Amino acid sequence: MSGPRIEVDLQKIRQNTQTVVRLLRAHGVGVTAVTKAVCGHPDIATAMLDGGAMDLADARLSNVQKLRKAGITCPVTLIRTPMLSQADQVVQTCEASYNTEIDVIAALAAAAIRQNVVHGVIIMVEMGDLREGVFPENLASVAEQVIEMPGVALKGIGANFACLGGVAPTAAKMVALSTLANEIEGECGPFIQTVSGGNSANLPWAMSGQPTGRVNNLRLGEAILLGVDPLSGAKINGMHTDAFMLIAEVIETNTQPAPVTLVSPALTPLRIVSGPVDTTRLILAIGHQDTDASGLSMPAGNTLIGATSDHLVIGTNRPTQCVGSEITFHMNYSALMHAMAAPDVKVEVLQDRHPRQSRRTHSKAAHLSLV
Ligand SMILES: *Cc1c(COP(=O)(O)O)cnc(C)c1O
Repeated sequence: MSGPRIEVDLQKIRQNTQTVVRLLRAHGVGVTAVTKAVCGHPDIATAMLDGGAMDLADARLSNVQKLRKAGITCPVTLIRTPMLSQADQVVQTCEASYNTEIDVIAALAAAAIRQNVVHGVIIMVEMGDLREGVFPENLASVAEQVIEMPGVALKGIGANFACLGGVAPTAAKMVALSTLANEIEGECGPFIQTVSGGNSANLPWAMSGQPTGRVNNLRLGEAILLGVDPLSGAKINGMHTDAFMLIAEVIETNTQPAPVTLVSPALTPLRIVSGPVDTTRLILAIGHQDTDASGLSMPAGNTLIGATSDHLVIGTNRPTQCVGSEITFHMNYSALMHAMAAPDVKVEVLQDRHPRQSRRTHSKAAHLSLV
């Protein structure tokens, strides 16, 4: 094996999915597994479906196309509002999409009519994160326009938290989302099938025992992949936090103490530390082009000194680490997302010890029988 690589343990991803699916099922909430951090990697997506996820979602059309090319036929929802320029491909590739712009919905409807299908629309409501969404006071009017538009069907509403603004989802916000679902049903008629409460940051709320109301779906990426709560970074009980490991090779060792002078203004986001005097300096063949170096956890006995585009410099008190040896890191979400998208980082799927029957041909009927 050469070059930096990510080792993925599919069994751990499947078990993490099973754990959240089981916990949330008790509260009447289904899980949509989000594949964007792993760039729509088909084996990882399949592990999520095997673990009981109802369906998949991704933010990028290119990732969904990768899933389809690999033969995954389950419902896939685009969770970033579609680009107007991609309306045709979105309708072709995704059963539904999250939307905030009536012009885009109109383009999707026109594309769906041309393709003789009906495209599902979930309206994203802005509830405080200040990223995407229709303001609650405009929701009924947008919903009404969607209902009247041939080619699209209103499938639900959704909210997103803790992404741009870092606003945590509270019980009160979730009650407000439930109320909105009831209100637009009152005003517009059709049953709102999906009320999607948010992402991994919603798990503490969902598990807290508060009534989940109309919220019957969460879109989970980070919690399944890394087993942590994104807001606190804390491990979720019973979840694996080591499904992904990043491995890089040592290309230089240097017995001089770690120089403090490495600090440069460009590196200020990194925690630059100088090691103890007996520290050996190691250079690894991985850098900013491959991952978010500040999101790597150093193995015991190692400290991060700094990183440049192609080099990672660490201090170690393990003198056994020679040129050609490999060092393994845990990654946070940012490090994982960058590494998965980096062309020079190989993704190696570990031997699956107990492969279950592949659910790549997982159909809507199969998913209904799960509930
Ligand atoms: C990324 C994203 C998610 C998943 O977020 P995680 O924190 O990885 O669970 C859910 N919904 C939307 C709209 C997203 O953009």
